[in-house]
Amino acid sequence: MSEKKAVLLIFTGGTISMSEDTNTGALRPIDFDRLQELMPELKQTGIHIHCIPFLPLIDSSDVHPPLWEKLALTIRDNYDLYDGFVILHGTDTMAYSASALSFMLENLSKPVIFTGAQLPVGMLRSDAKENLITSIEIAADKDSNGKAIVPEVCIFFEDTLFRGNRTTKKNTEHFNAFNSYNYPPLAKAGVHIKYFQSAIHYPETEKPLHIRTKTNQNIAILKLYPGITEEMVNAILNIPHLRAVVLESFGAGNAPRRIWLYNALKAATERGIIIVNKTPCSIGSVEMGRYETSLNLINAGVISGYDITTEAIVTKLMYLLGEYESTEEVKALISRNICGEMTCEE
Ligand code: ASP
Repeated sequence: MSEKKAVLLIFTGGTISMSEDTNTGALRPIDFDRLQELMPELKQTGIHIHCIPFLPLIDSSDVHPPLWEKLALTIRDNYDLYDGFVILHGTDTMAYSASALSFMLENLSKPVIFTGAQLPVGMLRSDAKENLITSIEIAADKDSNGKAIVPEVCIFFEDTLFRGNRTTKKNTEHFNAFNSYNYPPLAKAGVHIKYFQSAIHYPETEKPLHIRTKTNQNIAILKLYPGITEEMVNAILNIPHLRAVVLESFGAGNAPRRIWLYNALKAATERGIIIVNKTPCSIGSVEMGRYETSLNLINAGVISGYDITTEAIVTKLMYLLGEYESTEEVKALISRNICGEMTCEE
């Protein structure tokens, strides 16, 4: 008889961990015992489910790098005891946390699945049950050789499994809250869970999990718009201790051909500030040099972010600047696909 599988559920908060107070109607956080009462189906999975709550449970708008570190440490400390991990998290910043964990968990060979819900678990039409049960199944699923089918950090929502660092929250209204515009889904859950194995990353050789939790938050996002002023650009580029800027440009990576903008960006890169060009479009990639309006950016020392999401480039920069001292080393790694977060020429 095969051994019973085990999944660790980590509760961080968000709508999925709330239920309506029967007396007042107000939403309040629940514990694992209450979750099991509301979801008797958890027992029917036939999987050992243990839970670690991160108290107090928080709305994901309050998530910041120390929570990512705590998640990485909890996964490391429990790595050998479980087949997979499910993280219950608010949807608002879930794509940031999933992206951050994808960089922090090096040599991952087990599933780490983030999920949440648009409606609290106790509500009649809540999406929490399906999201949670399917995430637990995916976290425990193995192939015929006993290897995890999805050894990646993912987000599961509604009926789709996405690579975490390719995902963006797209909808506050409907149950399909997420999408991964530039990368295909890793699985679809219908009557059966259908895995798309050609899209899933499998490590070539299994190495021990290594976590990297240092981050540096001295970064900024500079979003271009017609009419942006020199003062505004300079205010951002001169933030004390600034190490890197995500420059959200236009289209395939274009920017106004104002000489003051070129001078400001060039002066910043010469001071050692890393500037990454990020397209504002959901689908497609930065292609610097395709239009004249992006040639200046190349000359100013701006580097391409290809088709990376905002969530992934923000967390990638924090992680790289935390781990590596040298600006040149960080720049070289930004242009490299580290864990499936972008499509670039290599
Ligand atoms: N504001 C909530 C959060 O992100 C929304 C949700 O859970 O869906 O924590």
